[in-house]
Amino acid sequence: MTKTAFITGITGQDGSYLAELLLSKGYEVHGLVRRASTFNTHRIDHIYVDAHDPDARIFFHYGDLSDSEMISHVLYNIKPDEIYHLGAQSHVRVSFETPEYTGNVTALGTTRILEAIRRSNPAIRFYQASSSEMFGHIAPPQNEESCFWPRSPYACAKLYAYWMTRNYRDGYNMFTCNGILFNHESPRRGEIFVTRKITRGIAAILAGKEKYLYLGNLEAKRDWGFTPEYVECMWQILQQDTPDDYVIGTGETHTVQEFVDAAFAYAGLDPEKHVKIDQKYFRPTEVEALLADPSRAEKKLGWKAKIKFSELVKIMVDADMKAAGLSPVGEGYEILDKKFPGRWWGRD
Ligand code: NDP
Ligand code: GDP
Repeated sequence: MTKTAFITGITGQDGSYLAELLLSKGYEVHGLVRRASTFNTHRIDHIYVDAHDPDARIFFHYGDLSDSEMISHVLYNIKPDEIYHLGAQSHVRVSFETPEYTGNVTALGTTRILEAIRRSNPAIRFYQASSSEMFGHIAPPQNEESCFWPRSPYACAKLYAYWMTRNYRDGYNMFTCNGILFNHESPRRGEIFVTRKITRGIAAILAGKEKYLYLGNLEAKRDWGFTPEYVECMWQILQQDTPDDYVIGTGETHTVQEFVDAAFAYAGLDPEKHVKIDQKYFRPTEVEALLADPSRAEKKLGWKAKIKFSELVKIMVDADMKAAGLSPVGEGYEILDKKFPGRWWGRD
């Protein structure tokens, strides 16, 4: 029987890859889309099929995570088997400028969905997009048993949502799970996250459009993985016999400086000549070092990251060079061909 999934955040990086994955598995996919004065569906336009088409299996619903009535209405109408809650104000630095809004959408948005599930059909399986940012100041490596020490309004909001997800599981016996994902990137990563900012910046420099790339703290360490692999995990987490929480990451950590150096070297540029520091990109409180210990996911889900740091850098630089109308170096595409033969990932 065809399963029905509802994805919040379908227009974002993760939502777009997850929608592709679920369609490829035969799901009927419904997504929450915010009304904007300009089109915001560019990441999913290639999989959209007009609802009048009898073969259409993807449907959009206008709404917002601040609107609980709308969420209840959508759940009542589409009767999903699974909900992947990816929608959020997802940017850490922006959350310092919009702490109340971030709390409303990123924290309370989760409660609104959990309540709608509890009242309509507690059998719906629910995935919460939790974040490694919740570990914050806790020394690496971090796993499911680590404490939390959030260091931004974003991380505080995600931690509230994490605990609500666990409480609905414990209190109401609902199938609610947290995927605690470490940073994951791709050619579709939002343009103001540091990896994409660097790879787009390199393409702009090579195309002669920019001379400098302005960055903040280059000492911070992150565990960066490849998004298409991470959305596989989201699906796997909801297919288990029992609900649980999982840390997902590569088990490798690198500084922002290392990302800069690797990406510039791959593109044949000297970062000394192009990278400048701008204080405005520093945060009031920083998360210094994130490093996943994904052993539970490896053991229980059989999941292990295939794409590691240096390969990710090449995939992202190639894609942004191509997007800028330049000839990619090409190694990034070779990696994708080798590790994911026949897949479309990272080519757009
Ligand atoms: P993106 O920023 O790319 O996507 C966020 C999505 O949320 C977009 O579809 C956005 O819509 C939607 N959204 C934002 N505000 C609202 C709102 N008020 N109502 C409805 N929808 C809204 O994030 P990612 O895809 O990278 O991340 C997906 C989720 O995973 C997020 O919750 C993020 O916090 C979390 N996460 C991400 C990590 C990462 O490294 N990528 C790591 C750990 C957790 P629009 O397109 O209109 O802006
Ligand atoms: P985050 O881990 O969710 O905050 O992901 P980001 O990609 O936004 O930031 C990763 C790290 O890069 C953080 O430690 C930032 O402080 C650091 N960083 C350094 N310069 C920049 C910059 O110009 N933009 C962003 N977004 N981050 C930067």
